[in-house]
Amino acid sequence: MIDTSRRDHVDVVVIGGGPAGATASTLIAQQGFTVQLFERERFPRFHIGESLIPETYWVLQRLNMLPKMKSSRFIKKFSVQFVSAKGKQSAPFYFWDNKPQECSQTWQVVRSEFDMMMLNNAREHGVDAQEGVRVLDVVMDGERVVGVRVQDERGDVREVHAKVVVDASGQSGLLMNKFKTRIWDPQLNKGAVWTYWEGAYRDVGRDEGATVVLQTESRKGWFWYIPLHDNRVSVGVVAPFDYLFKGRGDHEQIYREEVERCPVVKERIANAKQITGYFATRDYSYRSTQVAGPGWVTIGDAFGFLDPLYSSGVLLALKSGEMAADAIVEGLQNEDLSVEQLGKWGPSLNQGIDRMRRLVCEYYDGFNFGAFVRSFPQLRGRITDLLIGDLFEEKVDEVWGPMESLYPEKKQAPPLWNSGTPPEVAATKRTELHLPKGIKP
Ligand SMILES: Cc1cc2nc3c(=O)[nH]c(=O)nc-3n(C[C@H](O)[C@H](O)[C@H](O)COP(=O)(O)OP(=O)(O)OC[C@H]3O[C@@H](n4cnc5c(N)ncnc54)[C@H](O)[C@@H]3O)c2cc1C
Repeated sequence: MIDTSRRDHVDVVVIGGGPAGATASTLIAQQGFTVQLFERERFPRFHIGESLIPETYWVLQRLNMLPKMKSSRFIKKFSVQFVSAKGKQSAPFYFWDNKPQECSQTWQVVRSEFDMMMLNNAREHGVDAQEGVRVLDVVMDGERVVGVRVQDERGDVREVHAKVVVDASGQSGLLMNKFKTRIWDPQLNKGAVWTYWEGAYRDVGRDEGATVVLQTESRKGWFWYIPLHDNRVSVGVVAPFDYLFKGRGDHEQIYREEVERCPVVKERIANAKQITGYFATRDYSYRSTQVAGPGWVTIGDAFGFLDPLYSSGVLLALKSGEMAADAIVEGLQNEDLSVEQLGKWGPSLNQGIDRMRRLVCEYYDGFNFGAFVRSFPQLRGRITDLLIGDLFEEKVDEVWGPMESLYPEKKQAPPLWNSGTPPEVAATKRTELHLPKGIKP
């Protein structure tokens, strides 16, 4: 039963307290508007997405998060490195070498800790962030979203009305599902299995915190190797969904088989202790056709997610949270909450995601960083720009022509994200996350 005596009115409601929701809510509250944020879990809670990329720095700066990051125990990350199927290592792409600046160092974060820091930081900026409160649905007035219906842990249901509702519910994609705006990527169709190790191999000095991307011998998949604090390492394999999961054993068997197919990873974890069970996920590459509609905005994974390669997820959550917040604040100040105002940042975000997506698709289709840089040494900086997440300027588009010049005969540029997923394929899609026993989402 709905408890109407507890109906509230605020300027903005945010659904979800992950990095996207925490960012948008903080930046809106910073400008003096009232924001309520509802998070269905109690933090700290597990989340994947541990490797940050340098361009997160500027959003973290606006959020006043930098002192907290700098005094945290998170491992400092200076570079990313690629290891080919034959075990050949590219030179590390040091962010500093390309363009020395304060953001050239970033972090490998334990997300339960990072997300809690971000949410508490939002509270410090005046956000009323309520944990253990699930948003059941949005409240509509005709075509317009005017609030949310929430349920707390006691089961009590109430409505909260807002001028704008921001959906930052992650892969749950509350509004994307409601308004059926999700498009599954026609090209990216991967899954992942991962676990955590203690005492695995670590480089030293400025390489200690590097993300290493290691291709399996057959080139069917790749491993991420992400060093975390407390001597832990996150090690996961990503490969096409059918290859990874169909006709294979359980997640443990799949993982062990893939480690056998990647001797460089096997060597790195040979003397390590496994400290969790196996995690797995699938069908995470999609985008919404709209960033905004009447009274609503979607950000972070609730708008779209590409792929774990290049670790762009948290950056895009932070950037979209920032872009949306700026548009909402301007709209509230000017009393213009039209769809055009709320979604004015959509084209720019989409263009940035398209650039990262192209680099992702090229890698899956044979692109070799080492060979490219040997052929076009003058473009090393532009490739590094993409890897640090500097996605919103045309300068990075210089790389596509030279990349195409290295294509084997008949190869074409990857299809666009909205070029059409066959309906029979789309019908089988379902984002799924499997966690080991005892770990909360
Ligand atoms: C295998 C894999 C590896 C990845 N590796 C990386 C990486 O190395 N680096 C990187 O940057 N990114 C990575 N990502 C992506 C990253 O995990 C996400 O992009 C990022 O967490 C998105 O943040 P968000 O705030 O949009 O969503 P989330 O972090 O998912 O937060 C959404 C929140 O909303 C809450 N919520 C959901 N529904 C409701 C509801 N109805 N009511 C209230 N609350 C609700 C959830 O509990 C959750 O806390 C990876 C993703 C995958 C799948």
